[in-house]
Amino acid sequence: MTVVLMYAGGLPVVKVGRMAGQFAKPRSAPFEEQDGTSLPSYRGDIINRMVFEKSGREPDPKRMVRAYNQSASTLNLLRAFALGGYADLHSVHRWTKDFVADSPAGERFAELAGRITEALTFMDAIGLTSDNVPQIKEASFFTSHEALLLPYERALTRQDSVTGQWYDCSAHMLWIGDRTRQPDGAHIEFARGIHNPIGLKCGPSLDPDELLRLIDILNPENEPGRLTLIARMGAEQVGKALPLIVRAVAREGRAVVWSCDPMHGNTIKSATGYKTRPFERILAEVRGFFAVHEAEGTHAGGVHFEMTGQNVTECTGGAQAISEHDLAARYHTHCDPRLNASQSLERAFLVAEALKSARAGSERRIAAAQ
Ligand code: PEP
Repeated sequence: MTVVLMYAGGLPVVKVGRMAGQFAKPRSAPFEEQDGTSLPSYRGDIINRMVFEKSGREPDPKRMVRAYNQSASTLNLLRAFALGGYADLHSVHRWTKDFVADSPAGERFAELAGRITEALTFMDAIGLTSDNVPQIKEASFFTSHEALLLPYERALTRQDSVTGQWYDCSAHMLWIGDRTRQPDGAHIEFARGIHNPIGLKCGPSLDPDELLRLIDILNPENEPGRLTLIARMGAEQVGKALPLIVRAVAREGRAVVWSCDPMHGNTIKSATGYKTRPFERILAEVRGFFAVHEAEGTHAGGVHFEMTGQNVTECTGGAQAISEHDLAARYHTHCDPRLNASQSLERAFLVAEALKSARAGSERRIAAAQ
């Protein structure tokens, strides 16, 4: 996906994964009811178990230690993939999963991979090889999760002995969820004190003045890169709610990165009883996000989504035309529905096109102003 965004969009991409620590789940309801029995909700593998049994739903602090060990193993694997040769651009043709290869997105990817290989051959001919340009064979990759379970985050927070700054070492980037962003709440108080890059989810109920207050708490020095605002408005709301906060932030000159999470505002229950996200709604929110930034003259800086490289059937739609009736076939998620690899690639092409046209728009504006 990064290759698609960088090659087709013509821009560098910072890769941040929701992984190696994304175990805690905010829940809208504290209890879950099944056949007249009510039990505490499942709160993610770092707290309790999914199984609908009294013992399963009891919080078990040992799960935090397991989550930590699993995160450490995941990081080791990521490092091996990023630095051990797998990410070498010469392998670009090998990255597509078999089931994606025959899809329209897979065909587009194969074509793009062909062009990258040609470019690499040319670079090789002029002496730019993996030996003297490490970016060709290595990828940088960062991790991120919602800083929800404060006892866990606090236990992993350390003071840098050189700068005296505090860092939460459980991930590179931590974000505050839409349900825990109260300006006087514990999560904001925690995030304010750490020096990591911070994300803040912005849902449709966020008032522009409250957002400005939160920005001042989280980024009092107005440092670029410190704060990413992750808008998750839903396809229907994005055109109405996003301009209000984008305008307020621009008017007050606050330096933020705008990112779009088109997953969490577009979750519905299918007629067949599955929690799903229609692909068309996801795309509509991404398009809406770019359109708002284009209209406001601000920069659409990132996308945030839940995906897997497996051939799951959790989100309806896309080129494979997954229907509500197909969901049962490979619905593997324990919590939220994810895009599969084919849908993710399709989305990457869409974002690349939006990036290209946003870049052309800003070049036109600069030329007109000169
Ligand atoms: C999430 O990103 O996992 C999440 C629950 O998001 P939000 O806080 O935006 O609902």
